[in-house]
Amino acid sequence: MSNDILDTPELNLRAGKPVAVKASGCWVYDTEGRDYLDGSSGTICVNIGHGVPEIISAMTEQAQQLGFAHRNQFASQAVRELTAEIHRVTGHRFKEVVYTNSGSEATETALRLVLNHHAARGDVDRTVVLAQFPSYHGMTAGALSISGHPQRRRNLDPLHDNRLSLGTVAARDAASSLPTLAEWEERFAAIGPERIAAVVVEPVSGAAGGAAELPDETLRGLRELCDRSGTLLVIDEVMTGFGRTGEWFGHDRSGVRPDLVITAKGLSAGYTPIGACLVSREVLPGQSATDAAVGHTMSGNPVSAATALAVLRYMQEHDLVAHAAKLGPLLTERLAEVTAGLEFTRPPRGRGLLQGVPLVQDAEEFATNPLAPRICAAAMEYGLQLYPAGVDARSQTILVAPPLTITEAELDILIARLEQALRLVAATTH
Ligand code: PLP
Repeated sequence: MSNDILDTPELNLRAGKPVAVKASGCWVYDTEGRDYLDGSSGTICVNIGHGVPEIISAMTEQAQQLGFAHRNQFASQAVRELTAEIHRVTGHRFKEVVYTNSGSEATETALRLVLNHHAARGDVDRTVVLAQFPSYHGMTAGALSISGHPQRRRNLDPLHDNRLSLGTVAARDAASSLPTLAEWEERFAAIGPERIAAVVVEPVSGAAGGAAELPDETLRGLRELCDRSGTLLVIDEVMTGFGRTGEWFGHDRSGVRPDLVITAKGLSAGYTPIGACLVSREVLPGQSATDAAVGHTMSGNPVSAATALAVLRYMQEHDLVAHAAKLGPLLTERLAEVTAGLEFTRPPRGRGLLQGVPLVQDAEEFATNPLAPRICAAAMEYGLQLYPAGVDARSQTILVAPPLTITEAELDILIARLEQALRLVAATTH
């Protein structure tokens, strides 16, 4: 799926992209002075809104005080405080936080820890990592090799050939767009449970699955299946994490305890690059996960750490997780109203402020002229930023995921602009 729709003459949409020059709260402004309501928090990361003065002060102060410290030779106060804060908001249920610069790197770190875990037990043939179809876990080679996202993997198979024996579980039940527990069990039996190193799932699918929810019972069943099989359970909370779904993490309400959690995006709310892999007590007994993961030059950068710490504090001071939980049902209701009666939409799905409007389009037309980018381009014309998701006609969705700071009045504007965009697309869809 591409965003080439911006240049589609039929819709007479603006060629090229507007140039963003400033942003504040839920609003982005371009060089022509036009405003855009950020209905997707950028790429579902600007969770506390743009230009928050407390965050900018924290970044500036840290940059002035200590911009870099070689992590093998120094600890930094910023990293220590961030780690303590992450332990606090996660109820001290993780043993270690391993820092990266992105969600993709956090996925790579999780894969590295999974293989190290099994190798440390002499279980070297346990190399299969199973993920869902559709799914997206990052653009780096390892992360992409477990992603059920054919478009983003296109032409890159040579990168994956020499890697783990990876596979995805494809959903066969047309009613749900994610695999059922029975399908996971069948796949385990077919491959051999003793070969499955890890299962990686998103609690609410993002870029690939279009806000499809993984039911809590499926997640609990997967935990049991992994326990029976000696398989590690990795939950990808890059998009869902840090309050987006109305809880700190999308898996919280299921009661499931994953072995590893992948995070990024909301951790720094898009202000600076940072990701983290949260490691449970059992993963590497007697061994530091941070040492095993090795890391990157910028892992644990003090400016990123200070930024993320300020973001987590800001979220708590403004009770943003509860705000997302409160506004979630209202967003569902308003999306249901605005899409009712349209032939090319299905009822909204998702949780908290990560929601999607699934689209209906036949596979052939999807391949040549997908609806999701057309709707997003039309929305930009009316001053609304949205996110096109999905990997095929069945998963194609418009993601609606505004900053967790959005007010009810701003939500009204979002819905009004979305309605205009949907009308425009309806008028040009035959
Ligand atoms: N995992 C999920 C669920 C994501 O949504 C993304 C990015 O969209 C990633 C991983 C990769 O994160 P990043 O883009 O920070 O590398």
